[in-house]
Amino acid sequence: MIPTRFLFISLCFLIFIACQKDDSANTPKSTESAKSFEAMNTFMSLKSFGTDPEKANDAVEALIANIETQISTTKEGSYIYKLNHLNEGEEKSVETPAQIANLISFSLSIAKETDGAFNPTLFPIIHLWGFTTEKYRVPSDTEIKEALTATDFNKVSLSYQNNNSAIVTMKNGMMMDMGAIGKGFAGDQAIQLLKEKEITSAIMDLGGNVQTLGCKPDGNPWKVGITNPWGDAPIGGIAICNKAVITSGGYERYFEENGKRYIHIFDSKTGKPVDNDLASVTIIAESGMYADALSTTLFVMGKEKAIDFYKKNHEKFQMILVMNDKTLVYTEGLQDILTITYPVKKKAIIKN
Ligand code: AMP
Ligand code: MG
Repeated sequence: MIPTRFLFISLCFLIFIACQKDDSANTPKSTESAKSFEAMNTFMSLKSFGTDPEKANDAVEALIANIETQISTTKEGSYIYKLNHLNEGEEKSVETPAQIANLISFSLSIAKETDGAFNPTLFPIIHLWGFTTEKYRVPSDTEIKEALTATDFNKVSLSYQNNNSAIVTMKNGMMMDMGAIGKGFAGDQAIQLLKEKEITSAIMDLGGNVQTLGCKPDGNPWKVGITNPWGDAPIGGIAICNKAVITSGGYERYFEENGKRYIHIFDSKTGKPVDNDLASVTIIAESGMYADALSTTLFVMGKEKAIDFYKKNHEKFQMILVMNDKTLVYTEGLQDILTITYPVKKKAIIKN
């Protein structure tokens, strides 16, 4: 026989479930869903919170795959591939959707603003050093000089046809590469899509580019680790909501020859891999595309010029420079949100 006490507890439980059901009929319940996948030659993962996070995450995966087919330098159908492989007359042109033209236009404006430290037409140089084929080699000065003649980003022009498309034109022989900005661009699109899908908070790691939507569901900031160039344990963490945290580091891709390391980030003036005293540059900004462009650019500029650039643009971003001598230089906006857990020398910089 079932004891009365048990019947009573069961009845209370049923009433509780019934009430819950009634409640959820009015207010959709927020749930969590995580997903990982490979895209843009890297491993990506995201975690979203909302009414249907699984569907939203699937949509993000499809969106990023689509962006890759449009801007990849290696996928034959992409607009960038088509433009790079045209070879006729003095100039070559490709019509792209406005969104891709906007990406190219943004990359050209950063190139102009930074006097070419950021250069979206460096592909001939990157290819010459073998970073596009993994057949790495140190080219001769004559080869570098020759390849540099095809890297003048001022020779790229855009003509918008209407709100939907634009014609991108550049000198024959030139080639583009969105490698320094593409993941940030994809991250911004993904955040936009998550908002449209009524996701209230999310965190994405697009191959080391971290982008967040909102704060954590409990209202606390997300804690994003800063990669350690010398080991596995992060250098520290940064507490943020609604921001991108994007790092460029020489340790990410390089080859070595005769004891010298050649990294994947290039100085567009010399046509050679950057060789300065920076181990990594992390940028914290609202836009992933901007943070991605700047992490590469400020790495190219080196510490002093990066600090000057920050002083002129301090309202737009914050940064962490990890120096090879294990000094950490960080901007004043990070003082209260950066926790350092690795033994480094700390140096805060102020904007004036
Ligand atoms: P990131 O990891 O975002 O710093 O981007 C590095 C990638 O950007 C490289 O693998 C190259 O494809 C490309 N790149 C290298 N140097 C430059 C540069 N000075 N300006 C623009 N893109 C670059
Ligand atoms: Mg970048």
